[in-house]
Amino acid sequence: MASSENAVVATGRLREVNAQWRLGVTATGLDRAAKQVRLADGEQIPYDRLLIATGTRARQWPNPDEAALDGVYSLRSRDDAAQLQKALAAPPSRVMVIGAGFIGSEVTSVCRELDLPVTVVERGSAPLVGALGGVVGEIAAEIQRNHGVDLRCGLGVSSLEGDAGGHVRRAHLSDGTTIDADVVVASLGSIRNVEWLEGAGLASGFWGVGCDAGGRADINGVVTDSIYVAGDVARSPHVLYEYQFLAMEHWDNAVLGAEAAAHNMVNLEPHYRPHLLLPGFWSDQFGLNIKSVGVPPFGDEIVFTQGSVKERRFAAAYGRRGRIVAAVTFDHGK
Ligand SMILES: Cc1cc2nc3c(=O)[nH]c(=O)nc-3n(C[C@H](O)[C@H](O)[C@H](O)COP(=O)(O)OP(=O)(O)OC[C@H]3O[C@@H](n4cnc5c(N)ncnc54)[C@H](O)[C@@H]3O)c2cc1C
Repeated sequence: MASSENAVVATGRLREVNAQWRLGVTATGLDRAAKQVRLADGEQIPYDRLLIATGTRARQWPNPDEAALDGVYSLRSRDDAAQLQKALAAPPSRVMVIGAGFIGSEVTSVCRELDLPVTVVERGSAPLVGALGGVVGEIAAEIQRNHGVDLRCGLGVSSLEGDAGGHVRRAHLSDGTTIDADVVVASLGSIRNVEWLEGAGLASGFWGVGCDAGGRADINGVVTDSIYVAGDVARSPHVLYEYQFLAMEHWDNAVLGAEAAAHNMVNLEPHYRPHLLLPGFWSDQFGLNIKSVGVPPFGDEIVFTQGSVKERRFAAAYGRRGRIVAAVTFDHGK
């Protein structure tokens, strides 16, 4: 964000900007009355306008001792990816992926490309169910199995077991079975970085920081003109989705939401812009390109509109109350 001296910058940009960078320092609190952000080094930074863009972090395996075993990974940052890449190159005798959302499914796909044996444990009925629903999830399940994935749905991992040297060796599943694995990837979704806002009085919590479509932060249902929110941590009402609050964890949303917030931070009310992006993302896995537009979980019916499910090349539309609310394509992006 390029702005006045009093702005707090929490995200990076490629272009040189006239900003004071405070890298490696964590914001630990927000004092709205004094219009100041507290930093971990004790400094208080005043602001005229504040942008909250603290994003999300990977949800770690919930048992800290098991999460600390060598060979247990999560994936969020470039360093996480580099460490996992190194572990997969070793190579392991079997990889276990816990959670078959998009990230878990992409990791699984990479494992199969490397010809590594991989077991996926997903507590839902199929991979990608949360994002794309049960009908497309079943198709994804078949694709994974056809690519040699040992896919186990409707199950959880109860515990991870390590050897005397502290390296993970096996996982115990909720159905009583045990799987030997020496690399475990916990792909359990994300947690929004909102703890530092505790006590600030913003509508923030588990689901993110509430704001209006212009990025203005919500305080008990009233928006403020001095604090803005953008990116993964933001949730705002969307006119196309019955004004429900949506949180979108996609690059497009982070970039365009930040643009709208930045515009509104430095303009007066008649010139405010809404951020009403139609969510969209794509994923390459198992030799397929999957594209999604809109909000599939908002739909309650699905129709295959083009192509062939059998040939794994199709488009499907999601509907709700007679209106199309999302679409997904498999190898049919155009
Ligand atoms: C493995 C993976 C693959 C992905 N692939 C895709 C994809 O293919 N397409 C797509 O559209 N999206 C993808 N995403 C999602 C995309 O990366 C996010 O939507 C995007 O990074 C969100 O940007 P952001 O700036 O809101 O948050 P982030 O990128 O999370 O940035 C937030 C920043 O705030 C910092 N921060 C947090 N708390 C504090 C604090 N208290 N004080 C100071 N700094 C703080 C963090 O260190 C971080 O640098 C992927 C995500 C992951 C994890």
